[in-house]
Amino acid sequence: MGRRNRVGIIYWHGDTGSHQVALTFDDGPNEPYTSQILDILDEYAVKATFFMVGRNVENFPQTARKVRQAGHVIGNHTYSHRGPILNTPSRVANEISKAGEVIRKVTSVSPYLFRPPYGAVGPRVLKQVERLGYVVSQWSVNAGDWMGAGPHKIKKRVLSQVEDGAIILMHDGRNLSPGHDRSSTVAALPEIILSLRDKGYELVTLPRLLKLGPLNDKKIS
Ligand SMILES: [Zn+2]
Repeated sequence: MGRRNRVGIIYWHGDTGSHQVALTFDDGPNEPYTSQILDILDEYAVKATFFMVGRNVENFPQTARKVRQAGHVIGNHTYSHRGPILNTPSRVANEISKAGEVIRKVTSVSPYLFRPPYGAVGPRVLKQVERLGYVVSQWSVNAGDWMGAGPHKIKKRVLSQVEDGAIILMHDGRNLSPGHDRSSTVAALPEIILSLRDKGYELVTLPRLLKLGPLNDKKIS
């Protein structure tokens, strides 16, 4: 099934029979943490998905390009991470399309995955998301790294919740705070990857987990 048929759907996880899981990183790019995460992913040959905030892409354009060049997937996490989005439909649409434009301009990728800030997506937001051609991905495993947890706790949270088809939520940034400390996420990542592989999971991008078709399909922008 093509992506077009799936626009407007909200995904919380992939196939429960798949033995695959997806690592996702929200709120970046954010240096030096995004680059540190990229190094780890490269070392362990893992492809992940980054839900970027438009203004952070403007702050760290080279990092955004690096994410793309390393073969990871970029999703849209709005332009300024306002939320919950309780604004007018036109403001919602503007937040999403502005972020999409920035990501396109900087990385040459047309994102078609969307994750709302704070996971807040009501019918009004969903309508705009659908109109703009996006697929919504929430998550099934919350690493809780946004709550200031240490590496051990982050790892424990992920491993205690993970199951087949899991979408794992982590953070390489925080809202619009360039340089926000994500060293705990970085420190937890290698062991999370190793432990997931020990449990027999394959780590894939969200489009692969959700079987969403070609990454560079530009039919929907
Ligand atoms: Zn966020």
